[in-house]
Amino acid sequence: MQPFIRNHQYNLIKKQVGLLQHACATVADPKIVESVRSNMQFKLTEAFPEASEAAREIVLRGSGLGTAPEFQLYLAALDSHRIAFETGTEQQLKKLFPKIKKLKLPDLAALDLKAISYLGWSDIAANKLFIVYPLNGRLVGIEGRFTPTNKKGTCFVCNRQTEVGLFTALTKSRPANASPDYYKAIGNYMCADSEVCNHNITDLAALEQFLSNVVK
Ligand SMILES: [Zn+2]
Repeated sequence: MQPFIRNHQYNLIKKQVGLLQHACATVADPKIVESVRSNMQFKLTEAFPEASEAAREIVLRGSGLGTAPEFQLYLAALDSHRIAFETGTEQQLKKLFPKIKKLKLPDLAALDLKAISYLGWSDIAANKLFIVYPLNGRLVGIEGRFTPTNKKGTCFVCNRQTEVGLFTALTKSRPANASPDYYKAIGNYMCADSEVCNHNITDLAALEQFLSNVVK
């Protein structure tokens, strides 16, 4: 079977496992545990709209488990079904940012590619954040200014409370009659640590919306 679980889907499974495991360990009323199970089934089915019957069965098996070792084995068994992020070569990545002469790339060999929904890295000295993501099947790269806030807030990508900064990117589109110095910036609060964000992200919609607004 081809790998079919993307990082954000795996994060969602882990989150649902956490909820069910907690309910099994702490809730005495079997009806409540049962409702957590059926909610998990619903969420997982919804998260894999295009999965084959066999793939869905592999994922849904988790909703029938009860003990910590069972959940651990289940998650370990899912590992071989996870899809690795395709970063492209360093040369291809550089081509995504043609205006930047000395682009500092992350150490691709050190990354756990199965645990990545988007490639994000910062150039702290330049106050910049770079994002690479396969938008509609094409690898796109955007750069923007990243201003740390040094406090917690809700990240627009993963929707968790983390240490965030303000990420501001300039849109590439401009109205037909715009003056040469026209530009429009879009800003959002986002995780300062892309690795943390990638571990938390369970839905790609907000990121994809943002990227398509910038690259359009
Ligand atoms: Zn985040």
